[in-house]
Amino acid sequence: MTSSSPSKIENVIIVGSGPAGYTAALYTSRANLEPLVIEGFMWGGLLQQTTEVENYPGFPGGGISGPELMQRFRDQAEDFGTRFITDQATKLELADEPGGVHTVWVGKDAYRARTVILAMGAEHKKLDVPGEEELGGRGVSYCATCDAAFFKQKPTMIVGGGDSAMEEAIFLSKFASKVVVVHRRAEFRASKIMLDRARSIDNIEWLTPYAVAEFVAGEQGGLQVARLRDTETGEERDVEIDGAFIAIGHEPQSHLVAGLVDTDDEGYVITEGRSTRTGRPGVFAAGDLVDHTYRQAVTAAGSGTQAALDAEWYLRDTPEVQTPAGMPEGDLAEAQWASSTADGS
Ligand code: NAP
Repeated sequence: MTSSSPSKIENVIIVGSGPAGYTAALYTSRANLEPLVIEGFMWGGLLQQTTEVENYPGFPGGGISGPELMQRFRDQAEDFGTRFITDQATKLELADEPGGVHTVWVGKDAYRARTVILAMGAEHKKLDVPGEEELGGRGVSYCATCDAAFFKQKPTMIVGGGDSAMEEAIFLSKFASKVVVVHRRAEFRASKIMLDRARSIDNIEWLTPYAVAEFVAGEQGGLQVARLRDTETGEERDVEIDGAFIAIGHEPQSHLVAGLVDTDDEGYVITEGRSTRTGRPGVFAAGDLVDHTYRQAVTAAGSGTQAALDAEWYLRDTPEVQTPAGMPEGDLAEAQWASSTADGS
């Protein structure tokens, strides 16, 4: 437990948890920078939604569960003095000049820092069709590698036409009685090798060009039907399935920094060259927030390390400027600046 006061200017605030954020916290805490992590309520990122992680190095003999891996990341960062706020960052005000002070708001509390590491990650893209949200966890899923085992010998569907959809279909085909791949175009975005591999599997079927119009529940409340619409003719058809896996890509969680740092067309934060530097001095970005290609726990952890080192070198080399970005004035300032306790539990 460590308090943050109106006058305190942190060395580094990390926004977001997950492998990138917690690894950045581990490195900056070991560098005695006493990082403050604004980790969100659902801390741990996408790995909190997975079961076994078998491809994170160091865990032979069956791997480790996603939530346990994230708990270990967090515990290890805490061992070296990282402080956590289990709440959402709601607004950022970023200084323009090198050495300036940035402000991260959590509701009405403001926290100031010389450097900010953005590690808000990405979320699975949603179809936004009726039934999708209601049937989440009751047949509709975004992760075949997590949930395939619940659909042994059951008819299932994968929605999407990229490499992720192929990878998920191939994995799911080992459990399900059949996997229907539904894609909105006749051509696939997936690489030839992945497509060929999926096409060579007997219990994978193909339906194009179809979009999902709706997911419909059966009498027991679980998913029973995917209502599809031909994207060229408009014709509708129903397919009976027990499980539908949506694999249409990811969405970086960059809303918080929209207009503050450069992002690409899809909303991924752009960093300079091989570094984690954004265009803003003292602001760094790591993990799935910047990476639409690799998106692995181990690559996110690696980029969290890079961000921590970039922040450390920046603090070492950049003279301080006193004016904080977003600093409220007068009595209001005293009331608004964070006086709350950052609880590490
Ligand atoms: P992606 O390549 O962007 O593909 C997304 C797919 O979902 C596209 O086919 C797209 O259709 C479809 N889609 C998007 N929004 C949709 C919507 N609202 N309704 C219906 N369909 C929708 O994403 P990804 O497959 O997640 O792959 C991301 C990156 O990771 C790629 O660079 C990929 O190569 C890489 N990756 C590689 C591997 C590997 O093993 N080599 C495995 C996984 C991922 P359209 O084609 O019509 O736009």
